[in-house]
Parts: sequence; structure tokens; C-alpha cells
Amino acid sequence: DERIISADAEPGEKHDRALRPQTLSEFVGQSAAKGNLKVFIDAARGRAEALDHVLLFGPPGLGKTTLAQIVARELGVGFRATSGPILAKAGDLAAILTNLEPRDVLFIDEIHRMSPLVEEILYPAMEDHVLDLIIGEGPSARSVRIDLAPFTLVGATTRAGLLATPLRDRFGIPLRLEFYTPEELTAVIRGAARKMGAAITEDGAMEIARRARGTPRIAGRLLRRVRDFADAEGKTIDALSAARALARLEVDEQGLDSLDRRFLKALIENYGGGPVGMDTLAAAIAEARDAVEDVIEPYLLQQGFIMRTPRGRVACARAYEHLGLEAPKVQAA
Ligand code: ADP
Repeated sequence: DERIISADAEPGEKHDRALRPQTLSEFVGQSAAKGNLKVFIDAARGRAEALDHVLLFGPPGLGKTTLAQIVARELGVGFRATSGPILAKAGDLAAILTNLEPRDVLFIDEIHRMSPLVEEILYPAMEDHVLDLIIGEGPSARSVRIDLAPFTLVGATTRAGLLATPLRDRFGIPLRLEFYTPEELTAVIRGAARKMGAAITEDGAMEIARRARGTPRIAGRLLRRVRDFADAEGKTIDALSAARALARLEVDEQGLDSLDRRFLKALIENYGGGPVGMDTLAAAIAEARDAVEDVIEPYLLQQGFIMRTPRGRVACARAYEHLGLEAPKVQAA
């Protein structure tokens, strides 16, 4: 993935782990989700029970994995992590479930990409802490029921709507993560810079925060690149050096990169500003529809560059302005 502002984790992103906040109080922002979690965690701890299952949803890079780890730490229990696509067979999940200690947290990332066979194993496990397995094949096959330790499933997905209703309904604590404000991202960047031992001014942190698309993972990535430029010059990161470095990375003042601009341009120049369907738009910029919907669109929507209508996506005045184009007089909006 060449995209510097991609919110997807890169395989080699080892810094990520070292920078992760370790406690709920160190975790910046998401006050609604954090406030709720704190109440439920305290209650579960007080009763020495497993916390109810938690579903975290929101765009990539907003802190779902981090929050899941923090939940385990705050509960004082073990943490196991896997992901929907990795769990190929029912037996894969069964092996993990039978090895959990009482009240452990099991984190399943991209839970919407779990196979239906694995999902079926998960339902009784979540609900009654039992595993129903079929042993053998053909006429001699029989089913056995195995009791599991009570555990907490923390599922993460980019959009809640991607989950089948029966699965979604089994999460007692659904939490939606929101994009971070520039102020919150400034705090994230200062924290990450401190852990990296990088010198940065408040203005420098703000400059990066403004362009990080409301996403801590992008903030961290931009910080690392900006720091490389600052190190090369032997300087502290300030607003000027940050702006210069970000310009060289082609991340503009609104945090949009060439892919976002291509998306907006296609919408405006090829389709008269819309409405146009997502499949058509994704094809126009030669990107997968999923990637466009998960990574490009949410931020453009949230920032008011585009709108979603029943007939497709529509460019807003802000998109025209940003590209230096004249908005049509009568907007579809
Ligand atoms: P997700 O699982 O939603 O894709 P992650 O939990 O992997 O996101 O977070 C991505 C990066 O952003 C990690 O390096 C993490 O340390 C950092 N991060 C996420 N949320 C916060 C936060 N609230 N405060 C500080 N750093 C955060």
C-alpha cells in the first residue's frame, strides 16, 4: 500500500505496538465509548464476572484493537487476538475457545469476514458458553457439547451494517468509534512523539493533526515521516517543517491525498458532480469498492466534501472549492 494516509495497518508497522496507549485514561478521545466501557468494566470486575460481549465499529485506524487490549488490561484478564479471515475452519475457532481462561478477552478483528460455518460455532459459545461439535462423519457422526469458560468477545468491524443481524444482536455492548477532532489528534501526536523521543512543538503537532483525517493511525504515520525530514535537518518538528514535509508527501491542508482528489475529480468532472453510484465511481478511479467505502468515503462524508443520496454520491460545494473549481449554481443538494 503506497498510500501514506491509508488507515490500514501495514504489516511492518512495528512502531504501532510501542505507541499504543496502555490504559483507558491514556486513550485519547472517544469519551462516549470510554465512559460507557468504564461503567461496564467496573461492574464486571466488581461482580467477578466476564464482561458482556463488545462490538467496536468504525473506520480503520481509530483504535479498535488498542481499545480491546485496554479492556483486557483493565479487567485484569488475558487477551487473545485473531481475525475473521484467519479463522478458516470451525475447528480453528474451537481450538481458541477451549484454551481461554475464565473471563479472558477474545478479540476478533474484521469479524464481518468470518465464514458462516465459524459463525455458527460462535453463537452458542457467546450465548451459553458451550461448543457444539460434530465428531466423526456419515451415519456414525455424533454431536458433543463442551463447556467453555465464560469469556468476553470483542469484535471489530468497519461498519456495523456488515454484520448479520443474529451476530450483531449477540453483542450486549455495541460501541461506535468516531473520527477524532484536531485537538484530540494533537494530544495523540504529542503522546506518540514523547514515546518516540521526538522533539515537537505544539504548533508542529497541530499542523500534523489537521491533516490526519481524524485518524490516530494516520497521525502516527505522518508523525514518523515528518520526523524523518526533521531528523535529516537536525531540527525540532515545528509548524513550518511539518507543513513542508507534508507538502512533499502530497498530503494537502485538509489531509486529502492524490487518491481523494482523484475521487472528487472523477465525481465532478466525469459525472457532473453526481449523483452517481459507488460502483461506477470506484471503477472510474480503478479502486475496489470496499476500499473506497471504508477508507476514502467516510472522511469525505464527515467533512462535507460529498453527500450520500438514495441515487448515489453527490459532490458538495466544499469539494468544488477544494479543487479550485466553480460550483454549479443550483446544487443537487
Ligand atoms: P484499529 O484497530 O481501529 O484499526 P488501532 O487500535 O490499531 O486501530 O490503532 C491504530 C494506531 O493508532 C495505533 O498505533 C494506536 O496506538 C493509535 N491509537 C489509536 N487510538 C488511539 C488513541 N485514542 N490514543 C492514542 N493512540 C491511539
